Amino acid sequence: MHTIQNYINGNFHDPVSNDWIDNYCPANGEIYGKIPNSSKDDVENAYIAAQSAFPSWSQTTLEERSRILIKISELIEENLQRFAEAESKDNGKPISLAKVVDIPRAASNFRFFGNAITQFASESHESIGQDAVNYTLRQPLGVVGCISPWNLPLYLFTWKIAPAIAAGNCVVSKPSEITPMTAYLLGDICNQAGLPKGVLNIVHGLGSTTGQAIIEHPDIKAISFTGGTTTGSHIAKVAAPMFKKLSLELGGKNPNIIFADCDYNEMLETTVLSSFSNQGQICLCGSRIFVEASIYKQFKQDFIAKVKRLKVGHPSEPDTNIGALVSKSHLEKVIQYIEIAKQENGTVLCGGHEVSVKGFENGYYLEPTIIEVSTDECRINQEEVFGPVVTIMPFNTEDNVLQMANKVKYGLSATIWTNDLKRTMRLSNQIQAGIVWVNTWMMRDLRTPFGGVKASGVGREGGFEALRFFTEAKNVCIKY
Ligand code: NAD
Repeated sequence: MHTIQNYINGNFHDPVSNDWIDNYCPANGEIYGKIPNSSKDDVENAYIAAQSAFPSWSQTTLEERSRILIKISELIEENLQRFAEAESKDNGKPISLAKVVDIPRAASNFRFFGNAITQFASESHESIGQDAVNYTLRQPLGVVGCISPWNLPLYLFTWKIAPAIAAGNCVVSKPSEITPMTAYLLGDICNQAGLPKGVLNIVHGLGSTTGQAIIEHPDIKAISFTGGTTTGSHIAKVAAPMFKKLSLELGGKNPNIIFADCDYNEMLETTVLSSFSNQGQICLCGSRIFVEASIYKQFKQDFIAKVKRLKVGHPSEPDTNIGALVSKSHLEKVIQYIEIAKQENGTVLCGGHEVSVKGFENGYYLEPTIIEVSTDECRINQEEVFGPVVTIMPFNTEDNVLQMANKVKYGLSATIWTNDLKRTMRLSNQIQAGIVWVNTWMMRDLRTPFGGVKASGVGREGGFEALRFFTEAKNVCIKY
């Protein structure tokens, strides 16, 4: 059993109230540690530490900030194995995935923003004929709040923290209570890298207690949140009347649109990944697959055959493709959606059942599941399941598939498979999504804007967009 503590002002602390919650291992369903359920008092202590660190950190040179961020990145890389094991144990994801995606990406987030801040420039406007010049200052906000989900724990936690700190802010942060471990390990890495005390503070606990205390804090100037749409809506209601800056990265129900003229084999390989990577628990997974009618039969047959070959197993086994879902309640939710789909006349083409992994019978394992639907309007096609479940259905025309792609409340990402350039341009322009991938999926360049439209959120992360979010623009006008 291990005990996770809050990281406040560079030190590790028990929660003031001595209130703890259990930490489960999804691979075997056992409690393997406890984490603080931090109260307002802990958040206040974190706030005070951050506020005290701000005057000095906001005046630290960009070179020095950059040096420290890059050092954090290097230390994460040096501890790759340890971090990957911790992430896999906490989340249930295959350790092989954590090693090549989650942890390297967390390291890149620090390296990227460590470099980006040295290139972050603002505008100057010469007011010709008025003997004046305007320039823009981009000043850090002060103390900001960063709240992240459980699906890509360290990856998404650092995606917020790195630009916040790089821009000169001090942070009160909260990882998901379901996957707190790697954020806890990060505290020690920050100390080793020489990050001044109080610049980053990590408080653990439930959304309704610790998270709520962060969003309600009157002096926390901005909230950068990634998580569910319902939570995002609640955060907006609480934070907006206090005029906090808000970045909300929320749920998705992303279309994967496959035309007959695509590079078939590449599409097939990638569609297996975009459907089931991380047990389908990536906000960018393409959970609604629309296939042009002329290749539908072939696709259905080949896709089922490939998915049946995926191995569901213990996350630490090197050949495991699908690990455990993150929690018992999440597993139950996903199973319930499969039942709803059946009641709505969906046909389960493969999967649909829990898997008992030998020696780990109490783990939260589920077969990768493909459901054929005859209408895009059923609940399984409209609501976010966030598990290893995709729907497939045929389409006849570009107009028809565009309409179905857009007829959901979400608008995070979309994938299109085609070699027709004009069609690519037409659809990319008209699809309601923040990110459109054509003939690929999940290819990321950290300079690009990242975020969703409609119920998938407001605001953009990534590159200079993130640095703009974490700074306030101030215009200075000088008459000479
Ligand atoms: P969630 O909304 O339940 O929780 C996310 C975080 O918010 C957690 O840290 C939680 O403790 C906290 N929280 C909950 N209630 C809160 C409150 N009242 N005040 C402040 N904080 C609160 O989401 P989840 O189940 O952890 O994650 C899954 C969801 O995240 C899915 O909907 C998925 O699509 C979404 N997601 C979106 C993106 C994106 O970039 N758009 C990326 C990953 C995940």
